[in-house]
Amino acid sequence: MENLEKAGLAVNYNKVPDTKSKSLPKRVYIWDETLRDGEQTPGVALTIDEKIEIAKKLDEVGTAIVAVGFPAVSEEEKKAVAAIAKEGLSKAIVAAPARAVISDVEACIEAGVKEVPIFIATSDFRLKYQLRMTREEMLERLVECIEFGKEHGLIIDYIAEDATRSDMEFLCEAYRTAIDAGADKICIADTVGFVRPEVMKHIVRQIKERLWSKSKYKVPMSVHCHDDFGLATANTLAAIEEGVTYPQVCVNAYGERAGNAAYEEIVMALEELYGIDTGVETEKLFGLSKLVERHFVVPLPLHKAISGDNAFTHSSGIHSHGQLTHSMTYEPISPNLVGRRREFHLGKFVGRHFVEYLLKMGGVKATPDQAREITDRVKRTHEEQKKTQSKVAFDKMKEDLKGLRTGVSEREFWEIVFDVV
Ligand code: MN
Repeated sequence: MENLEKAGLAVNYNKVPDTKSKSLPKRVYIWDETLRDGEQTPGVALTIDEKIEIAKKLDEVGTAIVAVGFPAVSEEEKKAVAAIAKEGLSKAIVAAPARAVISDVEACIEAGVKEVPIFIATSDFRLKYQLRMTREEMLERLVECIEFGKEHGLIIDYIAEDATRSDMEFLCEAYRTAIDAGADKICIADTVGFVRPEVMKHIVRQIKERLWSKSKYKVPMSVHCHDDFGLATANTLAAIEEGVTYPQVCVNAYGERAGNAAYEEIVMALEELYGIDTGVETEKLFGLSKLVERHFVVPLPLHKAISGDNAFTHSSGIHSHGQLTHSMTYEPISPNLVGRRREFHLGKFVGRHFVEYLLKMGGVKATPDQAREITDRVKRTHEEQKKTQSKVAFDKMKEDLKGLRTGVSEREFWEIVFDVV
């Protein structure tokens, strides 16, 4: 884009001052949840070695905070978290979450992590049906856990679960109470991916209005968005536009249900569309994505933004030819920026110019008639291919993929039940 802009041949509206919020931060710190929320993708369980390898890669790429697991889940999980904490990461802070329960915070302390995000819901609905607590009881529990963590020298964050469905006055009371008790950062969780980007901005502004008037309450803010409506990336960016500096993300958008905001999408949007520094070495993003995909054994959609196999592949003749005249014709960024290369896939949409280009690159001399024939044959080959076989293979592959999920399916669960009862 840069050269085209300089030459006055293309306009970049992303740089128009009016389109940038005054609250936009200059630096954003990536908080990765791949090994925690990401691992809660149905059917995924990582070995300690896989966790260590992913944590190291996240560190190498430039992640600020890596949540490496949930120590209270099991002794095995605590061991995995402790192994990473013991080994230590070179730059990233090793974090692990706790419910607002003292024994959860203790598990994090035993695992040896530096930072503990403590979460408890603020919506009246969750308090009534899930936690069965009054607002006062919830705040007491929160204070007790934060103070306990601070006494043990930890960095403590308060994650307001279900924040986007909570009464604003109470949500802010919870944040103030947490900060008074020693919380270093606060987090807005859109736990069920329920809000629109404009609503996310409204919520962040409301929180700032209530908290930032007193400097002691002006602590860094984080955001945790789920993708139930496909808005996790948009909502995360909306929060950042209002001054949130610690977006929580998962590589490849993995996570519970429809997943979380994608690490690679947030980083590339911030770096390329907003011009914000994330501290991430973007050329390493594709390697990170592939490593995580393989250990998760959850295949990415081919058309996934940034990291999907097709994200930089051109197929139609018009596009392929366009790419040859100038790389920016049909690409917003160079694939090299994320550690990839441009690819072409030929088929019914292929054009003669592109075929001629490939022949030239391959050092093959062909007459115009021959080039036309090659083009026609590529088109015909594609059009005449029968899909019956590939559909059978596809169905089998989908079934096989389900079989690769670890854990217990509903059917297997009932088999266990009838065996026991
Ligand atoms: Mn989550």
